[in-house]
Amino acid sequence: MKVSWINATAFFVLGTIVGSFFNVVIHRLPQGESIISPRSYCPKCRNRLKWYHNIPIISYIALRGRCAFCSEPISPRYLTVELLTGIATAAIYLHFGLSPQLIWALVLLLPLIPAAFIDLKHYILPDSITIGCTLWGIASAALSISPTPIKDAFLGLLVCGGIFFLIAVLSKGGMGLGDVKLAAAIGANFGWKIGVTSLFLSVLLGAVTGIVLMLLRKKGRKDKIPFGPFMIVSIYICAFFGRELARWYLGSW
Ligand SMILES: [Zn+2]
Repeated sequence: MKVSWINATAFFVLGTIVGSFFNVVIHRLPQGESIISPRSYCPKCRNRLKWYHNIPIISYIALRGRCAFCSEPISPRYLTVELLTGIATAAIYLHFGLSPQLIWALVLLLPLIPAAFIDLKHYILPDSITIGCTLWGIASAALSISPTPIKDAFLGLLVCGGIFFLIAVLSKGGMGLGDVKLAAAIGANFGWKIGVTSLFLSVLLGAVTGIVLMLLRKKGRKDKIPFGPFMIVSIYICAFFGRELARWYLGSW
């Protein structure tokens, strides 16, 4: 498969523009505000941003991370999300090339970036993203643009959603329903083999991070850590290396 660095750069730039939109989504979706209008505004002084305040990455650096009107510091999250989305978009292109699977991967993976940041901040995974990704898993399998046959997509949805639903019930709210819906999305997109591997990886990542944070005394035993971001990191890892990991984890393919 041929990929070019010119295309990769173009995908990076497009990704930063999508990331700029994701910042609006992260800010407005949990508050139930429209993500289309009005134009971006400063949350402090409410001044509408001009188009040249909205250029991904460049504007943040040019304004030194402050509002152009009131000099209120802008969260470094804005720059982080733009950079991260740009890098993710280029990496997805480099892995999948200009193929039908590229569409599957972009539609699945990019919206998970705002989902991770919303979960970190508000401890919720929006239905529009988790259920949307589940439906996309089924639709993309039906269209044969995902790597998963349609039968596996349905089986994966039931197995992965089922496992986390059981954990949610047994842990009495230790795991939220948003995590269950995201698990169903993982199964629908990857099938049960890569799906279960991805869930195992997310539990491992979550446990290791929890222990490290406790050792560093950043978090106590009782503190809540959102689980969605670990699932989302695992989904990214599995989108790139899922087959190899599943072969290793399940011992067979
Ligand atoms: Zn301002």
